[in-house]
Amino acid sequence: MMSDRYAVIGNPIGHTKSPLIHGFFAQETGQDMSYGAIEGPVEPASGFSDTVKSFIEAGGRGMNVTAPFKLAAFAMSDERSERAELSGAVNAMKFEDGRIIAENFDGVGLVRDIEVNLQRPIAGKRVLILGAGGAARGALLPFAAARPAELVVANRHVDKARALVEQAAVGGSITACGYADLESMGRFDLVVNATSASLTGQLPPVPASVFSASASAYELAYGKGLTPFLRLAREVGVQGIADGVGMLVEQAAEAFAWWRGVRPQTRALIDRLTVPLD
Ligand code: NDP
Repeated sequence: MMSDRYAVIGNPIGHTKSPLIHGFFAQETGQDMSYGAIEGPVEPASGFSDTVKSFIEAGGRGMNVTAPFKLAAFAMSDERSERAELSGAVNAMKFEDGRIIAENFDGVGLVRDIEVNLQRPIAGKRVLILGAGGAARGALLPFAAARPAELVVANRHVDKARALVEQAAVGGSITACGYADLESMGRFDLVVNATSASLTGQLPPVPASVFSASASAYELAYGKGLTPFLRLAREVGVQGIADGVGMLVEQAAEAFAWWRGVRPQTRALIDRLTVPLD
């Protein structure tokens, strides 16, 4: 019998580490499955959903979804989790009885990396999230569930941060602001860079005054070494700095557990994939 088929779909897809990660998980947990990478067509508009449907017809059981298809995956799904609903984006799909069930594990993976792997509890802390794009949206519910004393979302386009915070309606103290407002908002225990600024070597205009003496700084981008954001944190004396490789592995572990019913170990793999920050 053929083993169960999974794949990641994106464009471009050459850089993906997902087949390596899931291959490692499958071996570790003794699951009979294959996991490939598919370059989804950007044109025509129906290209993405046609490719997913062909994969399902060929016996596919689930898929991870990466840029630029997270919204298209949301649109074609039949059932979505609350966090997928709120983030408006989907990064994992399960195919069951002719239905497409959709999830977004990016935020849970991020929070798990911070709390479990890095041993930085969020409860009772002041948390600042920079950015209000897809990754920040996906992170909001999991962060709120970890019960910070305060959660602040700062974005260049403040309206986007406001809309996100209003839509979330998760209770607790969540506020939206612009970067200039941060000057007067005191110090934070955890500052998360969920902007894409690092991908182009840029620094979001965050004032150095946001970092408390014992703060942690978390960069969602990975494999980029010391990004301008992490460099700033280090310059002002922040000891706990990390990039998003742990998040990448943890969201994959969540998807794997959802598909296969068994949770893989992540530590060894995170260590193996970690590129030293400097
Ligand atoms: P989006 O394109 O959805 O959002 C981009 C965000 O970055 C927006 O809030 C935008 O602000 C902001 N931004 C971009 N450039 C700047 C800048 N120069 N200064 C200030 N703000 C800026 O991106 P995603 O949310 O999908 O991704 C964000 C980051 O997270 C990327 O680095 C990505 O690689 C990483 N990521 C990591 C994952 C992991 O597993 N480790 C998983 C998913 C994402 P505005 O709205 O004002 O334009």
